[in-house]
Amino acid sequence: MTGEQVRADDRAHVFHSWSAQGLINPMPVAGAEGSYFWDYDGNRYLDFASQLVNVNIGHQHPRLVAAIQEQAAKLCTIQPAFANDKRGEAARLIAELAPAPLNKVFFTNGGAEANENAIRLARGHTGRHKVLATYRSYHGSTSTAITATGDPRRWPNEPAAIGVVHFWGPYPYRSPFYAETPEQETERALRHLRDTIVFEGAGTIAAVLLETVVGTNGILVPPPGYLAGVRGICDEFGIVFIADEVMAGFGRCGEWFAVDRWNVTPDLITFAKGVNSGYLPLGGVVIADEIAETFRERPFPGGLTYSGHPLACASAVASIEIFKEEGIVEHARAIGDDVIAPGLAALAAKHPSVGDVRGLGVFWAIELVRDRATREPLVPYNAAGAAAGPMNEVAAACKQRGLWPFIHFNRVHVVPPCTVTADEVRTGLEIIDGALDVADRYYAG
Ligand code: PLP
Repeated sequence: MTGEQVRADDRAHVFHSWSAQGLINPMPVAGAEGSYFWDYDGNRYLDFASQLVNVNIGHQHPRLVAAIQEQAAKLCTIQPAFANDKRGEAARLIAELAPAPLNKVFFTNGGAEANENAIRLARGHTGRHKVLATYRSYHGSTSTAITATGDPRRWPNEPAAIGVVHFWGPYPYRSPFYAETPEQETERALRHLRDTIVFEGAGTIAAVLLETVVGTNGILVPPPGYLAGVRGICDEFGIVFIADEVMAGFGRCGEWFAVDRWNVTPDLITFAKGVNSGYLPLGGVVIADEIAETFRERPFPGGLTYSGHPLACASAVASIEIFKEEGIVEHARAIGDDVIAPGLAALAAKHPSVGDVRGLGVFWAIELVRDRATREPLVPYNAAGAAAGPMNEVAAACKQRGLWPFIHFNRVHVVPPCTVTADEVRTGLEIIDGALDVADRYYAG
């Protein structure tokens, strides 16, 4: 097939996510390997987005491909009520990686369903209904998960599922609490959460749901003490703490689970994406013993035809083994500390439009502003069309130079595969360096 044929079928018959169908022109992709993918015309792109921040192991890892082929030859599918070797092994490996009392895994097809079922578990366990989630968040696009989402993808889905209340999480660069230090940010953010709980009625709240490190909405790394404080507040009021690690988990933050970085133990962790790098659809919830126990005698009221799909689980087993053998988590941490952090600091020193750089592991954001003093974003929150023009130009400049960027509002996220090499990072940052000249033209400070 030619690129044009692929494009023709797509345009005629594929209905795309999040899009006005007549205004898009998806690029046909012919193949991918490692940190690169390419089109049908010989254009190669350094994948600084890891697709949707999920191809943590890189494209077409040969051993992962082989493991899927092997399982396909053995047993493609078996329904969830049976015990299956790869399903059990994947659950055991994931439970072994999770903090101690989280020992059981409910498998889903992706992240939204993971959050949907985590909320179901929390409601069943507590007998309460409400869920608290942050404004700067994305939790998936099924009914409850999109309602829990704080970002604008929720708006066209309203009126939505009932019982979700939003609150502000910490964001030192644009503090909702007028904090001037990380310590103040932590203290005030926790006070705000506590007040929200008291005024909503602690006895009505099943869960606090938050991304351990907020992903799409800004790579917001929690300031010291914040997650431990949330844990304490949840304990005090008997609320389930759900950590959404769909994007942050499995190496992205230079940890197996991002909570490991802060030694905090949530009651439920949701995962997807990096667990098998999206080679097959897979997600799930890792469940603390106490919550699993609630459903020992009482049936859990949820299920999916493909829960624990053998092909997907076999790919998770193989992926975890490869991560361990190749030291991929440690590599992600080192590349963040030794290459990305200094590289971004150099870009910030050079380009006035860079207001802030932040992140960890292979999970970084470059936040662009029109004025460093006022911190006015290069484009407004939720900018679309002409208002998003400057960021579209930055994206185009990256693509012209052979880098596929992850752009959200006024930020460029640096989110390559966890397996990215130091040279690839340097190449990518050089390209972004060139593209930031475009952003600097809009600088008015
Ligand atoms: N949670 C977070 C933090 C995410 O980033 C995403 C997807 O980007 C989801 C949940 C939803 O996952 P999925 O698209 O697999 O349903």
